[in-house]
Amino acid sequence: MRLQNKVALITGAGSGIGYHTALLFAKEGAAVAAVDVNEAAGQKTVQEIEAAGGKAIFIRADVSKAADCERMIQTTESTFGLLNVLFNNAGISHADDDDAINTSEDVWDLTMQINVKGVFLGCKYGIPALRRAGGGSIINTASFVATLGAATPQLAYTASKGAVLSMTRELSAIHARENIRVNALCPGPLRTELLMKYLNTDAKKQRRLVHIPMGRFGEAQEIANAVLFLASDESSFVTGANFLVDGGITSAYTTPE
Ligand code: NAD
Repeated sequence: MRLQNKVALITGAGSGIGYHTALLFAKEGAAVAAVDVNEAAGQKTVQEIEAAGGKAIFIRADVSKAADCERMIQTTESTFGLLNVLFNNAGISHADDDDAINTSEDVWDLTMQINVKGVFLGCKYGIPALRRAGGGSIINTASFVATLGAATPQLAYTASKGAVLSMTRELSAIHARENIRVNALCPGPLRTELLMKYLNTDAKKQRRLVHIPMGRFGEAQEIANAVLFLASDESSFVTGANFLVDGGITSAYTTPE
């Protein structure tokens, strides 16, 4: 098992990438702290892990709140004894996120609070716990849009993911000598609820698909496999990476016929 005796905290564990990663981590031997603001969804993840013979607890937390983030780390350490892997994954893509003219200040602020401040707060309270454990792995979910602008505008989201990528690079440099690796996971467009709610017409879906060399959306399970690599000791020389798992979308400006 690739995460035997490890303790992993996953934010946004109630759905999509976080849900699939929680199940996979538990299958690979990790004890999982499944964090989500959605209690029913997070509890369901824990029940599924336990039904499969794994170890997990649910912690309700809003990652944009400092007190919640401090508590999620404390609860993980007091339940499982330590923390080895921190997956700062919770994020939103607001339906009203648009171009500079049409994006409201409220949508901008909410996106930044969850997507950027949430990662900062996870690290603020998580890094001391990883130090106490003698090191560990942090994976921050950014997006391919941290590298490319999106032609279907979502300015707040794109800016937030750029911030996650650059924050990750600096964190990786600062903490490298403490045996703490920090990588940005940059998924391409996935067939998850988050994206399908945003690309809510066939025309919008096609506009995105035409840019993906593989010609399909990715699956959350495929992202979970990449997170497992970054979490495990197999990636022991990988830090500060812009780890793209994107079906080739950032490699081409047009797709093959
Ligand atoms: P999802 O909507 O399926 O799941 C996100 C989970 O985060 C939900 O369970 C939600 O309740 C939780 N959450 C939202 N706000 C929260 C908060 N303030 N505190 C705690 N939990 C909160 O989304 P997903 O597609 O699995 O996306 C996960 C991450 O991957 C996000 O950061 C997203 O931006 C990123 N991402 C997604 C795609 C995609 O195509 N779906 C592509 C690139 C990056």
